[in-house]
Amino acid sequence: MLYLSTRGHPDRKRFCEILLEGLAPDGGLYLPERYPQVDAAMLGRLRAVFNGGASGGYAALAFEVLSLYIDDIPASDLTALCDKTYTEAVYGTAAIVPLKKLEDGFYLEALSNGPTLAFKDMAMQLLGNLFEYELARRGEELNILGATSGDTGSAAEYAMRGKQGVRVFMLSPHGRMSPFQQAQMFSLMDENIHNIAIDGVFDDCQDIVKAVSNELTFKRQYKIGTVNSINWARLLAQVVYYFAGYFQATSSDSQKVSFTVPSGNFGNVCAGHVARQMGLPIQTLVVATNENDVLDEFFRTGVYRVRASTDTYETSSPSMDISKASNFERFVFDLLGRDSARVKALFGVALSREGRFELGADPVFAEAASHYGFVSGKSTHADRLATIKDTFERFGLVIDTHTADGVKVAREHLDKSVPMIVLETALPIKFSETIVEALGRQPDRPPQFQGIEALPKRVHRMPADVEAVKRYIVQHCSDA
Ligand SMILES: *Cc1c(COP(=O)(O)O)cnc(C)c1O
Repeated sequence: MLYLSTRGHPDRKRFCEILLEGLAPDGGLYLPERYPQVDAAMLGRLRAVFNGGASGGYAALAFEVLSLYIDDIPASDLTALCDKTYTEAVYGTAAIVPLKKLEDGFYLEALSNGPTLAFKDMAMQLLGNLFEYELARRGEELNILGATSGDTGSAAEYAMRGKQGVRVFMLSPHGRMSPFQQAQMFSLMDENIHNIAIDGVFDDCQDIVKAVSNELTFKRQYKIGTVNSINWARLLAQVVYYFAGYFQATSSDSQKVSFTVPSGNFGNVCAGHVARQMGLPIQTLVVATNENDVLDEFFRTGVYRVRASTDTYETSSPSMDISKASNFERFVFDLLGRDSARVKALFGVALSREGRFELGADPVFAEAASHYGFVSGKSTHADRLATIKDTFERFGLVIDTHTADGVKVAREHLDKSVPMIVLETALPIKFSETIVEALGRQPDRPPQFQGIEALPKRVHRMPADVEAVKRYIVQHCSDA
């Protein structure tokens, strides 16, 4: 299996070559040359593997799906990596991603049982093991530099803690994360995890990461890398749980299901698109956004319009507060019949000049719904509160704010003959302020998180200064 760039760069690369990379050299995103096809016989076999008792289950399914895309890791090693990643010990349940039935034909798929209680663990935990494996094989090291306002940073730290050859330098805006999120990250005592609290806002942190990453000499000398959501391995890991959700909601491979996905950077739902292109019987992929409705606007009108930071709202589903959807280029590449010259003209030229492009008048736009199964909807703070309350009153279940956006929008797209699976992307304890607003009570706290706010903290506070951050990295590069 070889990978290409959505913007037409002539190079073709193998999985482990793009594993540690971000963008392709021409600024495009990596995609496989073609999507491996899962025919009826193979779908039956994958179902048997997933349901297959002691030697089966989620890890075995992950191995089967990943093998279709990874041919430069020996099968025995890839099996070991999957077995080590998707365990009951890490996810608290042997099912790893159990379905919770709300009512007939309406389910939540629980993706938030990992160490940081958000779905990003599903991919990041695998990435940690893949990075350690590949770096050891090459005899190399990597310093991951990132900026976070919460979920991504903690998922990355819990995935990379204690890993050989990897250090994490994670910038966060001082005093701006919730006490729970701060405690999650800052209580990690691992030598290879460096929390840096910047005097500034999230954008200042992100600007520092960009500035350092753009200094190519420094980047090369200190082996700076990232783990952001455009990483192909992260997306690939997410494809697996679409299969797992399908097998749990159906008893026969002739049935179809639909998924609703709370969306920001279009990473999670893009994995659903990949699963559907492989032949998984998905009827509809419902994209649910919050007030930051870049994607809902596109699927309704064909206009893709990047927002200025002043037009990007801080909402109560903060992990979906995006100004542009970084993975969206992958879908548009497929929508345009893989015409990389057009993708380059839209994402490389029109977006940087005008901040928007429009496909509404193009005949291919209709295919987003008719051929690729995409529809969308939007949810606001008031919708979120009402949905959390309604779900609690009717089913006794407390859902988080992002999942509530998904449930709200899913209800607008129900089809009685097709089961609907809403992806649960976080647990409510991470966003307790809004839960209290909706229900007048605190969400339950999983036992392993009791009292974490009181744990000792390991964090280094710094001004918003690129040179200071670089100095810190240089000083801490040779330990661990
Ligand atoms: C990251 C995140 C999302 C958005 O996922 P994308 O892949 O960026 O679309 C939704 N909900 C939660 C809780 C998240 O952490």
